[in-house]
Amino acid sequence: MEKFAKPGDFCPNEACPDYGKLQTAQQQNLEKFGKTRRGVQRYRCQTCRKTFTETFGTIFYGKRTPEHEILETLALLAEGNRISALSRVKGHKEDTILQWLREAARHAEQLEGVLMAEFKVKRAQLDALWAYVRNKGEKKLSRDG
Ligand SMILES: [Zn+2]
Repeated sequence: MEKFAKPGDFCPNEACPDYGKLQTAQQQNLEKFGKTRRGVQRYRCQTCRKTFTETFGTIFYGKRTPEHEILETLALLAEGNRISALSRVKGHKEDTILQWLREAARHAEQLEGVLMAEFKVKRAQLDALWAYVRNKGEKKLSRDG
């Protein structure tokens, strides 16, 4: 099993010089920074001064595109829209959307809840979406468009 690093193990801010660097004895840019009202650990990066938590919401942290927009695009993909069509409608590059999709698939468990609850995506649609990512290469998501 691959061991996942999670926010809290590294700074998730892409603009930060210490972005993605795992914390070690030599690399210690993160400090614990209290907890959220729900008791989730919050961290602060001493390099970029950004704070973040270890849970969902940090997956797309630091991306230029708002998280809601990314999630909505993922939901539309799950509903069978083509990447090429979404690229035209939403104005994001196809490569960018594919990258979100790959990243989302790596955090599928964390994202499924919010996609189902807030975007009314069905479980079967999500399963198809993650299967699509695993078989990436095809440009088309829906069976017949
Ligand atoms: Zn940082």
